[in-house]
Amino acid sequence: MKSVRIDASKSYDVLIAPGLAAETGARVKELLNPDACMIAADDRVYELYGEEVRRSLESASIRTSVFTFLHGESSKNLATYQALLERMCAERITRTDIVVALGGGVTGDMAGFAAATYQRGIRFVQVPTTLLAMVDSSVGGKTAVDLPQGKNMVGAFCQPSLVLCDTKTLTTLPAEEFACGCAEIIKYAMIESEPFFESLEETPIADQLEEVISTCVAMKRDYVNRDEFDTGDRIFLNFGHTFGHAIEACSGFSILHGQGVAIGMAVMTRAAAARGLCPESAVERLVALLKRYDLPTVSPYRRELLLSAALSDKKAQGGTVRLVVPERIGKCFVEPVPKNQIGEWMRDGGIVP
Ligand code: NAD
Ligand code: MG
Repeated sequence: MKSVRIDASKSYDVLIAPGLAAETGARVKELLNPDACMIAADDRVYELYGEEVRRSLESASIRTSVFTFLHGESSKNLATYQALLERMCAERITRTDIVVALGGGVTGDMAGFAAATYQRGIRFVQVPTTLLAMVDSSVGGKTAVDLPQGKNMVGAFCQPSLVLCDTKTLTTLPAEEFACGCAEIIKYAMIESEPFFESLEETPIADQLEEVISTCVAMKRDYVNRDEFDTGDRIFLNFGHTFGHAIEACSGFSILHGQGVAIGMAVMTRAAAARGLCPESAVERLVALLKRYDLPTVSPYRRELLLSAALSDKKAQGGTVRLVVPERIGKCFVEPVPKNQIGEWMRDGGIVP
């Protein structure tokens, strides 16, 4: 088993091993000792892993209630959040009880936000079941739901008490969803470590899951430690996301987040190479690695459409956009770019007019 300790405003462990979901009850009992627990999961994940987690909590003499909702980003909204809170009231969940968020980033964000705000905040445990949630969303304490006006528009910073990454759950994850997690993993390598990038070139991610997940969690930990509330350094984690979000938005979200990020990273690296800011070999290596996971590397949308989507992003408010630009594999820098020059970066990144 791998374990990474996070020391943010609250300290907690991220544990990574196959079979951890079945140990939820014992671990929660020892660490948090609640009387009762609300398990939140989407319908698909509950069907696969819900009863296993529920049984483990019941065996540890913790009273359990279950809240399930329709899978998908469209459930990450105020209505689902409110329904969960009302169930927590109905089940008499108190301030000493806990929420277990079992599932991907949608469940973790929504149930985490419910825990962060229910009776002014109760403890919660993340049991991520997607690769993306394991390497990214379950760690770092960002919780949120979407509004019709945009993603993650309402939320709170609130760290979990424990994160249990059961790598066995990834065996049932659809290949496209697995690839989305791989895009975020490749992102960590691009911003942070050439040796890690080389290890990804040498060995498929599926063959070194525990190692890769713990490496990414440790990298995220370092960013969170430096910038828990996302006012500075955490921007590096946004590499590939400025254009990635724009591509997702243009597609009406039929292009998945990780796919958008893959294209966004490729475009940004091409632009950096065209401007002489990073070697051409970085583009070749990045594109080759993304393609191994069947991730797209070219924008299906033209510049005009993409530009208007990029400029309406909530992170693009004000006169400049802070682009994360690669300098080589394993190192990026932040470049504040006036909004009226973003189109030139897209052009240099190979996006046709
Ligand atoms: P998700 O939670 O919707 O899961 C993707 C799909 O996979 C769902 O249909 C789900 O039912 C299914 N699934 C999950 N685990 C499975 C398993 N083990 N086997 C079979 N199917 C399984 O999406 P996601 O990609 O995990 O997360 C995306 C969300 O995460 C977005 O809302 C995004 O905003 C958020 N996010 C948050 C942070 C953060 O820091 N809080 C960071 C990145 C992303
Ligand atoms: Mg992301």
